[in-house]
Amino acid sequence: MPEPFVSKRAPIYADVPAEKWNDWRWQLSNRLNNVDDIGKVLNLTDSERQALQTQGIFRVDVTPYFISLIDPDDADDPVRRQIIPRSEELQSFTAMMEDSLAEDKHSPVPGLVHRYPDRVLMLVTTQCASYCRYCTRSRIVGNPAATFNRQEFEMQIDYIKRTPQVRDVLLSGGDPLVLAPKILEELLSRLREIPHIEIIRIGSRVPVFMPMRVTQELCDMLAKYHPLWLNIHVNTPNEISLELQQAADRLTRAGIPLGNQSVLLAGVNDNVHIQRELVHKLVRIRVRPYYLYQCDLVEGAGHFRTPVAKGIEIMEGLRGHTSGYAVPQYIVDAPGGGGKIPVMPNYLLSMSDHKIILRNYEGYVTAYEEPTDYTPAMAAKYKGAKRPEPGQKGLTALLDGEEMFIKPEGFDELHDRHGVQHRLKDEGKWKPLGIGGESEK
Ligand SMILES: *Cc1c(COP(=O)(O)O)cnc(C)c1O
Repeated sequence: MPEPFVSKRAPIYADVPAEKWNDWRWQLSNRLNNVDDIGKVLNLTDSERQALQTQGIFRVDVTPYFISLIDPDDADDPVRRQIIPRSEELQSFTAMMEDSLAEDKHSPVPGLVHRYPDRVLMLVTTQCASYCRYCTRSRIVGNPAATFNRQEFEMQIDYIKRTPQVRDVLLSGGDPLVLAPKILEELLSRLREIPHIEIIRIGSRVPVFMPMRVTQELCDMLAKYHPLWLNIHVNTPNEISLELQQAADRLTRAGIPLGNQSVLLAGVNDNVHIQRELVHKLVRIRVRPYYLYQCDLVEGAGHFRTPVAKGIEIMEGLRGHTSGYAVPQYIVDAPGGGGKIPVMPNYLLSMSDHKIILRNYEGYVTAYEEPTDYTPAMAAKYKGAKRPEPGQKGLTALLDGEEMFIKPEGFDELHDRHGVQHRLKDEGKWKPLGIGGESEK
């Protein structure tokens, strides 16, 4: 397998001195964002021209580095499709939403999404190095006026301080690594002062859009705030250049574990062979594939969507066929705000009271004989301090024996059938008599 390629420069950049090309500030200030400039690098299609000339389209910006990865004559280049708008972007589709994950509804303070028990998503900027056309946060991303101010950072930090069950803060945006270095460092140090924050994570596409931003100086700064984890966002093997490899190497050497989150995109990476090459190239640069997301129901992303079956087919072609380290989890982020839901092929075919029937990645079918003498009392006892989430109900309450059912809204009224209270109806009949006792709480 060949080493990652050294990225070429588009011909218009041939005379840019190396000090400039390798300076992230130069890359940022020379981003391309209109039809004339982009037309000097790529042979634009009518659809792309039309989109680029439409008022109010989701912000366009591409770094000279990233646009140089595109084959200028290939309208279907997978890097191009991620970053250059097409007219299909303006088409609406069934179930399309502005904020399909209902993030703003789950934000106790602006830019802080608290959806899961023990971790929060902290949006720290609306700016990115370049703008992905399928952005799940296009409702705010790219808009400098929507960005977060100092007062809002204070509200975010204050919320985290007074919410002790939060042990993990995920910085995202926008892209935290385009923040002014001083502001980023201030946020990291403020978070590190909070005793219950165990890990800090950053989600960033800067290493992909602008690997020159990942300087040794930046890595040294980040390393002061360990344990710190970083997820990058690579969708195709074409993005894994020598420059990205070197940036990833600097980050890993600074002790930062790297993961990758990709989005399943029609015409870009919706092919098991592309996905396999992608994950292999990622583990070679010591980036662990973390999630493969189903494309969200967000405005502008309709033409990127695939059926979920495509994702299952891809997972079928990864699990077992390659290193477990190279297999991401395929995730549908629940519309309306339910959070990430893993989806995969079925490996459990059947079961009886003492065995389960499984199939492997090849279709080999096996019986796993289960113990018949296992009792709940045999489970290991936990001696540490438990940190249950206050108020968590749902499946946890069913498993803990606190509840015996979850009812859809209006269930009791519907099933009452406008009846009367009569001699056989007594609330006490439907209260659990014997559950809850034996479960280890
Ligand atoms: C994705 C996400 C997280 C992090 O989820 P993990 O599965 O722990 O990586 C946290 N909060 C929100 C709101 C998210 O969308």
